[in-house]
Amino acid sequence: DTNRKLVVGNWKMHGSHVANAELLQGVLAARPFGCDVAVCAPFPYLSEVAVTLAGSPLLWGAQDCSAHEQGAYTGEVSAAMLAEFGCRYVIVGHSERRAYHAESDQLVADKAKAALARGITPIVCVGETLAQREAGETATVVKRQLSVVIHALTHCIGEIVVAYEPVWAIGTGRTATPEQAQEVHALLRAQLAAATPHAAQMKLLYGGSVKPDNADSLFAQPDIDGGLIGGAALKAADFVAIVRAAG
Ligand code: PEP
Repeated sequence: DTNRKLVVGNWKMHGSHVANAELLQGVLAARPFGCDVAVCAPFPYLSEVAVTLAGSPLLWGAQDCSAHEQGAYTGEVSAAMLAEFGCRYVIVGHSERRAYHAESDQLVADKAKAALARGITPIVCVGETLAQREAGETATVVKRQLSVVIHALTHCIGEIVVAYEPVWAIGTGRTATPEQAQEVHALLRAQLAAATPHAAQMKLLYGGSVKPDNADSLFAQPDIDGGLIGGAALKAADFVAIVRAAG
């Protein structure tokens, strides 16, 4: 169903055996879901999450993958490895990776390509910093970030998920207003429409301090098809409330 929204939890570097089990049970208790729902856990927990969620409507993903197929890349995890045990999504180009691991637009595009080649849907993150927004560069920055991905993926571009995550809103408690988010989403949708006939069906997620009390107004925007949720994805009650707001 192309109208179904998508809500993805990004656990970042949080969790433990006990905490994950409790969180997943709390989310599973909210079934059935009225939207597509996924959680992106740290690598060491993925196989365990896969077992816990097998046969359930709660999907799972990774927070990163290598751009390379295999080889001498110590510490990296390939899309093939993730695909081997059922990974559905992978976040690529999260602003924390762009900032702390110097990931370039081209590397992010290559990672998205590597994921798609293994049947995993990349959730490609784009977003401007506060300084860029204040300098009036928001549109230029997000369009540049997306254009490199469009160029790399060509005819497959319709298969990705895009997450607009203004850097100044991530983990800060400062959310973009629904109007600010919609404005950027509309720009991104138009850019995608110039590249693929599937743009209208693509999922464009908003991320950046989405909470139960602001999810409704964000999800009501015409070009916001769901959310990428950080902090609020770590508490089952909050995450479930956001899932409910999405459908
Ligand atoms: C994120 O890191 O993807 C995110 C949106 O984080 P938060 O919800 O905590 O702002």
